[in-house]
Amino acid sequence: MGILRAACVIGPWLSHRTGVTARNQLLLNICRHCSSGIIPNERIRNIGISAHIDSGKTTVTERILYYTGKIAHMHEVKGKDGVGAVMDSMELERQRGITIQSAATYTMWRNTNINIIDTPGHVDFTIEVERSLRVLDGAVLVLCAVGGVQCQTMTVNRQMKRYGVPFLTFINKLDRQGSNPARALQQLKSKLNHNAAFVQIPIGLESNFKGVIDLVEERAIYFDGEFGQNVRYDDIPAEFRAEVADRRQELIESVANSDEILGEMFLEEKIPSTADLKLAIRRATLNRVFTPVLVGSALKNKGVQPLLDSVLDYLPNPAEVSNYAILNEQAEESAKILMSSLRDGTHPFVGLAFKLEAGRFGQLTYVRVYQGMLKKGDYIYNTRTGKKVRVQRLVCLHADVMEDVDEAYAGDICALFGIDCASGDTFTSKSNDNLSMESIHVPDPVISVAMKPANKNDLDKFSKGIGRFTREDPTFRVHFDNESKETIVSGMGELHLEIYAQRMEREYICPCTMGKPKVAFRETVNKRVPFDYTHKKQSGGAGQYGKVIGYIEPLDPEDNTKLEFEDLTVGTNVPKQFVPAVEKGFRDACEKGPLTGHRISGLRFVLEDGANHMVDSSEFSFMRAAEGALKQALENATVVILEPIMSVEVVAPHEFQGAVIAGLNRRHGIILGQDGSDDYCTIHANVPLNDMFGYATELRSCTEGKGEYTMEYKKYQPCLASVQEEIINKYLEATGQLQVKKGKYKS
Ligand code: GDP
Repeated sequence: MGILRAACVIGPWLSHRTGVTARNQLLLNICRHCSSGIIPNERIRNIGISAHIDSGKTTVTERILYYTGKIAHMHEVKGKDGVGAVMDSMELERQRGITIQSAATYTMWRNTNINIIDTPGHVDFTIEVERSLRVLDGAVLVLCAVGGVQCQTMTVNRQMKRYGVPFLTFINKLDRQGSNPARALQQLKSKLNHNAAFVQIPIGLESNFKGVIDLVEERAIYFDGEFGQNVRYDDIPAEFRAEVADRRQELIESVANSDEILGEMFLEEKIPSTADLKLAIRRATLNRVFTPVLVGSALKNKGVQPLLDSVLDYLPNPAEVSNYAILNEQAEESAKILMSSLRDGTHPFVGLAFKLEAGRFGQLTYVRVYQGMLKKGDYIYNTRTGKKVRVQRLVCLHADVMEDVDEAYAGDICALFGIDCASGDTFTSKSNDNLSMESIHVPDPVISVAMKPANKNDLDKFSKGIGRFTREDPTFRVHFDNESKETIVSGMGELHLEIYAQRMEREYICPCTMGKPKVAFRETVNKRVPFDYTHKKQSGGAGQYGKVIGYIEPLDPEDNTKLEFEDLTVGTNVPKQFVPAVEKGFRDACEKGPLTGHRISGLRFVLEDGANHMVDSSEFSFMRAAEGALKQALENATVVILEPIMSVEVVAPHEFQGAVIAGLNRRHGIILGQDGSDDYCTIHANVPLNDMFGYATELRSCTEGKGEYTMEYKKYQPCLASVQEEIINKYLEATGQLQVKKGKYKS
C-alpha cells in the first residue's frame, strides 16, 4: 500500500515521545487509516520551505521531522555533535551550512501526509528552486526576525509568483537579540507588496520569548518539555489582551479586503466565527491574495507545531491546484490537458522527473505523480525519448533514509531507481502519449570559465564528475574548446561554478583549477547574406568536393540564442545523404565567431542548392563546404555581438532612489519601472551582465548599506557599439599576446 505503508513505520518513532497509551492510540489511527484504502487528497500536502540563507530553513525542517516522529534526535545545524541536520546530506553542505540540493522527504502530521521539498537558498541555484517550486502545491517562506526581507527573499518571492505558489510566512529566530517581527511583517508589505497579517503574535521577545498567541483561536500556546514537544494551550495573558484585539482586527481587515465572503460579513458588521475566519484565510491564501504570518524560534523549539497545523489549515492539497500537461509541445497545435487529481488509478499515469540524484544508493529519479497511479513493476514511457522503462523499485524518501513502497498516486512524490532520463522529463503509461508537463523554465548559462583537474592523472574522475553534474543540473554545461584545448564549464553565476569545482574535489577527490570567469557573449548577423562556396581539394590521396549555395539570415530577437538549419534543395545536386553533414558543418563552425571567438547564434542557415562529384564528394567534404560557406557569408556580413542582459531588482529606502537610478544608468541599465510603498522603493531595470561586476559594493556604498539587489538572466541583446569595440580590442589584444608568446617559445 505504497505511501500508506510508509505511514505505518512512524509508529516506533512516536513511541519514544508519546508514551505507550498515546502511541497505541496513534498507531490505531494510522492503521485504521491504512485499512480504509488510499490516502485522500485532503490528507496530502506537498510543500517547500523557501528562505534566505541562514534564516533557519534547515533547522525548521529538522524540527518538523522531529515533531512528526520522523527522526528520533535533533541536531543543531553545524552542530557541536558534528552530525549536522538531517536534510543536509552532502558533506559540502554541512561545511558551508547551505542547502544546495533539494531533497524530497515525507512525514505525517495529524494523519496528513506532508511531502517536504527542501529548496536551496542561493541565487545561483535558482534552477533547483524553480524545479522544486514547479512540483509543489504550497510553500512556507521562512524569514529571520532580525534580518527580515533580504535579497534572496525577493528572488524566492519572484519565483513563487512565477509558479503561482501559495505560501505562508514563518518569522523565525524570535529569541535573537534585535528580533523585530513587526518590522519583518512591514517589509513583507512594503518590499514585496504582499497583503500580509499576523495570525499569531509572540509572547515576549529575545530572551524573554515564551510562546505564541493564536489570533484565530484566541489562545496562548506554550511549548513544554526539553524539546518543546508538549504543546500546552492556555488563556491569553492579561497584558496581551489589548494587543490581541488590535492584531485580530487587523487580520480580519486584511483578509476581508481580499476575500469576498469575509468582506461581506465585515461590511454587514457580522462577527466571523473562528471557523469562518479560518476558511477565509485559507481561500485568500490559496488565491495568493493574502499570506498568513506565523512566528517562532525553531532553535528554541517554539512555534513549529502550530506552523504544521497552519500548513494543513491554509495550504492547498493536490486537488486544489490545477496542473496541466502539454500535448504535442513541439507541434503547432499543442493543447493543454488538465490532469485529474483522482487518487484511484482510473486515469493513465503522468509524472514529471523533477530531480536526479546520483547518490550512494545509485541513480535516483524524483518523480511527482500528476495523474493516475504508478506501481512497482510497471512499464512507463519517457515522452521525450520514447524509451520504455520498467519501474523496478519505488521509494519514498526521508532525507538519507529510504523506504520501499509498492504504489504511488496522483499528488504523491516518490523516487525511482536506476532509470535513465534527464530532469524535466515526463513519463506516461502509454507509449504514444506525446504529453509533457509544462517544461521547466531552463535559463541559458551566462558565465563560463576554463576548468581542469589540477592533477593530470585525475582526468577519469574529472569526466565522471562532470558527467554527473551536467545530468543533474541543466544550467551547468560543459564543452571542450578545441582552440585552447580547455574544458569550459558554464553556469548561472560565479558561485554556481565554484561550488561544482569544490564538489569535484570533495566528492571525486579531484582538485581543479579554474580560469578567469568570462561573460558568455554571442555573435550574430543583422541581415540576410548569401553564400556560394565550393570546397575542393585534389592534391594527394582521395579528392574532396562539395558545393553549397544558399544564405544565412538572423532569427527573431527572442530566438537569438538558437541556431536553425533549413534544407530547401530540390533534386540531387546536394545528395540527401550529405545534407546532415552540411548541417553539422554549419553547427560546428558556429562554435567560434569571427570577431571575438564567442559562439555564433541567432542564425538560420538555408541550403538552396549546390553540386557534388561522383567520386570525390563525401560527408566530410560537405561539412567543410558548410564551414567555408559560413565563413564566406560572415565576411560579407555585419557581425554583431550579443550580450546577456540581466533583469535587476533593487530595493532601497526612498531617499536613495536617485543615487540607485544614476548608478544603474552608468552601468548602461534601462530602468523599466519602479514601485514602492511606505519607506522602500523597488527599481526594476535591465542591465548587461558585463556591467554588473562590482555592483554589490557600489550599491552598498551609495545606500549606506541599506540597499539590496537581485538579478536573473533575461535575454541576449546586441551590445552598444562602443562596448562591441572594446570587446573586440580585448580579444585582439589577448590573441595578439598569445602570438607573441608562441613566438617566444619557438625561439
Ligand atoms: P538555513 O541556511 O536557512 O538552512 O539556516 P540554518 O537552519 O542552517 O540556520 C542558520 C543558523 O541559524 C544556524 O546556526 C542555526 O542554529 C541558527 N538558527 C536557526 N533557527 C534559529 C532560531 O530560531 N534562533 C536562533 N537564535 N538561531 C537559529
